Amino acid sequence: MIAFAAAERSDYLELLTKKKVHILVIGGGITGAGILMDAVNRGFEAALIEKQDFASGTSSRSTKLIHGGLRYLKQAQIALVKETGKERKIVYNNAKHLVQRNKMLLPFYKGGALGAWTTSIALWLYDRLARVSKNEHKLMLKKETTRRIEPLLNAEGLKGAGLYYEYKVDDSRLTLEIIKKAVENGGIALNYAEATGYIYEDGKIAGVKVHDVLNHTTYEVMADYVVNASGPWSDQVAMLEHKPESLKRIVLSKGVHIVVPFNRLPIKQPVYFENRSDQRMIFAIPHWDYTYIGTTDTAFAGEMDLPTANHEEVSYLIKCIGQVFPKAHISEQDVRSTWAGIRPLVYEKGKSLSELSRKDEVFKSTSGLISIVGGKLTGYRKMAERVIELILTEFKSHEHKTSPVLHEEALTDLSNVSGSEFKSDDDFRKLKAYCNSLCHHLQVEEEVMEKIFHRYGTNTEQVIALAETFTGEITDPYLRLELGGLLYGIRQEMVCTLSDYLIRRTNQLYFGRDQVNKYLMPVLDTLAGELQLNAEQKSKNLEDFIKEYEAVMAWKNEKTL
Ligand SMILES: Cc1cc2nc3c(=O)[nH]c(=O)nc-3n(C[C@H](O)[C@H](O)[C@H](O)COP(=O)(O)OP(=O)(O)OC[C@H]3O[C@@H](n4cnc5c(N)ncnc54)[C@H](O)[C@@H]3O)c2cc1C
Repeated sequence: MIAFAAAERSDYLELLTKKKVHILVIGGGITGAGILMDAVNRGFEAALIEKQDFASGTSSRSTKLIHGGLRYLKQAQIALVKETGKERKIVYNNAKHLVQRNKMLLPFYKGGALGAWTTSIALWLYDRLARVSKNEHKLMLKKETTRRIEPLLNAEGLKGAGLYYEYKVDDSRLTLEIIKKAVENGGIALNYAEATGYIYEDGKIAGVKVHDVLNHTTYEVMADYVVNASGPWSDQVAMLEHKPESLKRIVLSKGVHIVVPFNRLPIKQPVYFENRSDQRMIFAIPHWDYTYIGTTDTAFAGEMDLPTANHEEVSYLIKCIGQVFPKAHISEQDVRSTWAGIRPLVYEKGKSLSELSRKDEVFKSTSGLISIVGGKLTGYRKMAERVIELILTEFKSHEHKTSPVLHEEALTDLSNVSGSEFKSDDDFRKLKAYCNSLCHHLQVEEEVMEKIFHRYGTNTEQVIALAETFTGEITDPYLRLELGGLLYGIRQEMVCTLSDYLIRRTNQLYFGRDQVNKYLMPVLDTLAGELQLNAEQKSKNLEDFIKEYEAVMAWKNEKTL
């Protein structure tokens, strides 16, 4: 088996150009990742190409919740809430190191759209639809209890709150750990490989022209089935056809989050509140040393490769926070980072953006391109099932030169992602305790080890072993761990650029800018050494990262223009 390492990219390319795969997936977000995993689990030879880095689209820019979507109950989207609600438990079980269970507080105020009765009914229904286990059923709280458990909440007009369970996830790592597992099971996945056109045989798509963005070469990959899982880019990827049949079925909506230091908004659990001026629901979610707040929902028609927050969106979120947590006095000065994501929503006549369903749909063009659009991070497994089952049925009805043994079921509900190879909950707790206990030996705080464990799970020991190779050479223990993670990323997670590591693999652009500022140069030097970059490639890496680093705070300069 070839390692999922940047150094092996050319071997993967060679493999891909030499053989015809059964399924080629375009798009390395959560949708494509899920499809690749399902395909290889069933016995297909499958590959995935991603034009940027894995998860660099919407799948690293979500609210980072594995949830049934309580607000969709208001739109009577019962099937969606039911399916994603049930999926929560499965994603939690299969990606334990990345998913954390939290109590979510849902306060309601005098004059608001939510009241005690409506909140209670909605949460009751949510518990039933999502088959929430009894010990996680909702609780309704009186005003005094609500104030006691969340003293920062605005007390004026507060009537009470609902308390229910939600699951928080590292979205980009979930995408990556699924891809890593699929590769471990025989799939091929390439980042920086862009689909630029199709190859036809008898009028049907028989392959894809792929441009290697890093080495500026173009090659052809042949496949029985090509799946367009490119999220917000779905229309563009469909338009690459020689007789394009535009999907025109997606509407793009932008959602922004802001990040403030936790000590500026030290809430005791995630809070989901109604913004009283427009009745929109907003999340405030504590995450390690920070609290993030989002999201907005506005029509989008700009550059999709690097969407950014603007000044108006940041001020809107600050105003929302000011209404519910006035004592915190959050201002623009507190905002340390932001991110913006683009939702690919299925078009429905006469509906506003927030009313549009988050459901997914699968289409097939006359020349055979299968596109999947819409959906949610939480529902990725069921979305993949729908695509692969369509292919499975067609595949079986045709004669094939090579006939693989195919399984009717992918059993992805029972497949742990990479880093989550725990035999039981007890096994999880033991490994977590063991990793935490290494803090003395590694000379860092226990919390640092806890973060590392929640990033790498059962692969943590590999990262630590790589960090220890710097003992003697580097005296700063935090830098040793940082470089251990970097080497692991390059050798096992296809890290090809500085941004891959600092953004998609570790989220430090959003939740660790101080660490980035401190270690940027040693990280760059080690990356350049390991990847054998020349001076030009090294400075291009830095330039590209700085572009992204500055983009998340670009809204600050906007008003002074
Ligand atoms: C603000 C916001 C908050 C959200 N919050 C949640 C949440 O809390 N929970 C939840 O369940 N869902 C949430 N969602 C929805 C969820 O994030 C998305 O449904 C999901 O990430 C979409 O994944 P995707 O793989 O379809 O698209 P993407 O992640 O965008 O992946 C598509 C990929 O295709 C690649 N691509 C494009 N063109 C090409 C080409 N020509 N060749 C090769 N590759 C190409 C892109 O580079 C991209 O990486 C949220 C969405 C937004 C915007």
